[in-house]
Amino acid sequence: MILTASQISTSSVTDAQIGACHKVFGPDNKPFYMVESASDLDREYKVTWTRERGFQCQCKAAEYGNLCWHIRASIAAAREEREAVAELNRLIAEQAAPVTSSAPTIDTATRARIEAANERAASKPVSRAKARQDGHFASI
Ligand SMILES: [Zn+2]
Repeated sequence: MILTASQISTSSVTDAQIGACHKVFGPDNKPFYMVESASDLDREYKVTWTRERGFQCQCKAAEYGNLCWHIRASIAAAREEREAVAELNRLIAEQAAPVTSSAPTIDTATRARIEAANERAASKPVSRAKARQDGHFASI
């Protein structure tokens, strides 16, 4: 049976494992993943998916028919990427959307509170006393 990504759990995949995955586009423009080996820093395993053979990895575990972490991590990385792209598209759509409401409307009671607060801040005796004490600003 050919497994598709949606049938493979990625709950055990760690962030570090996702970080070991690098998306690459082949000469046919189809993406695949190169995944750094956890045991051999000089090694990378190619993870591919084809309709005929499902997921394939070049590592020993996959050779023996196991669903290795390289495959799981590649699927998790692809999912993260899809989510990131969706989020980006959402933000772009949000920015492109026409502005529906103009400046926020402030009711008179709120405006009065803001003005009162500004007046209080302007006439605070503490800040003036401080300014006089500070020699550097005496000339200002
Ligand atoms: Zn593998």
